Amino acid sequence: MAEQLKTYREKRNFKRTTEPAGSLEQDQKPADTPDQPLAVYIMHLHAASHDHFDLRLEQDGVLRSWALPKGPSLTPGEKRLAVEVEDHPLEYGEFEGVIPKEEYGGGTVMLWDRGHWRPHGKLKADKIDFELTGEKLTGHWTLVKMRGNPGSRNKKDNSWLLIKRNDPGATPLEPDDISVASGRTMTEITHRKPARDYTTFKLTPETIDNARHKSIPKALQPQLATLVNEAPKGDDWLHEIKLDGYRLMAYIEAGKVRLLTRNGKDWTRKFHHLAQTLAQLPVHTALLDGEIIWLTPDGASSFVKLQDSLSNAATDALTFQVFDLLYWNHHDLQATPLLARKQALQQVLEPILNGAGTVRYSDHVVGRGPEFYNQVCELGLEGMVAKKADSPYRSGRHKTWLKIKCTAQDEFVIGGFTKPSGARQGFGA
Ligand code: MN
Repeated sequence: MAEQLKTYREKRNFKRTTEPAGSLEQDQKPADTPDQPLAVYIMHLHAASHDHFDLRLEQDGVLRSWALPKGPSLTPGEKRLAVEVEDHPLEYGEFEGVIPKEEYGGGTVMLWDRGHWRPHGKLKADKIDFELTGEKLTGHWTLVKMRGNPGSRNKKDNSWLLIKRNDPGATPLEPDDISVASGRTMTEITHRKPARDYTTFKLTPETIDNARHKSIPKALQPQLATLVNEAPKGDDWLHEIKLDGYRLMAYIEAGKVRLLTRNGKDWTRKFHHLAQTLAQLPVHTALLDGEIIWLTPDGASSFVKLQDSLSNAATDALTFQVFDLLYWNHHDLQATPLLARKQALQQVLEPILNGAGTVRYSDHVVGRGPEFYNQVCELGLEGMVAKKADSPYRSGRHKTWLKIKCTAQDEFVIGGFTKPSGARQGFGA
């Protein structure tokens, strides 16, 4: 094994670079069989003299490595150059950081993806069919060694082609600029920003029903509720308080936040304070669905006050009431049952829920719809929204989300009145 890492070590000065030398224990480790199911797969993004990706597959106790000048091929049939480079130690699979400029491979290295790989059929000297199970990339690829040009002066031709194979039902993922290890962008790694703080979550996207590996949607149309007259009965429905504000979808990617309205207008600048709060979420990527409201002290929402604060550009005191999580760390959750999405949402929001109330989790009750409706109306609230607990998220108006209004409240709105001030008595505690 020491022999296998000889080139790797010769190229580097470990007094200067923070890359791992590869431990002796590793050297003495017995050779792994390539068809063990959990061999490590790593994809680094490396901004050296030229930006490229580095594919690494564990084989015989080291990471066999290919530089991908144009990145991995992501659409079926696409072929991209892969230049085999020296084997790297297994510890390299955890490396992320900055290699000093004057050193070999000087530049920023991001741990872009990680997981496992498994060969399909026999490994050959000039052809490897394999399957990746990464946090970002999943599916089938083939590496084929190119036959050297007979006239070529380059005797040691290490050129391969990486070819994407067909994976029925899979959607191609677009390369992003987010580390799977630290949630940082290349710029953040270069400037040695600390890793985003990751709370250990009980639920992870990998363990959620019907979570699908996909890119984050660019601008998703929200699901809308159908107006009905009566709250549904039965425990297969969950019920939330209806809010009177503006619908907002929050797209979070490596601490960058975009807030889009129902019609896809970018309102990030209007809600600067909210965007800053959401940037603190311990996630790589997320898409939240909710409503921006002006929360009255009794827990109701005032649309008039909301419009006031918008026209005065005084939006810091507004509340983003979040009721759905549609994307989380490289996984699309639209096909996931609502109740599971809300459990994940509550957990994801937990670290930023605070007394300031900028972001709130929209809680619900399960079942007893008509009773909930009576309570909501007695409290003088606008109404309720009933949602089918096991339903996937679907853009547009569907009958898995129902809204039921409290009639008396509607009359106030039609009459142009705000809530009577008497309703505010008794708060402040
Ligand atoms: Mn490289």
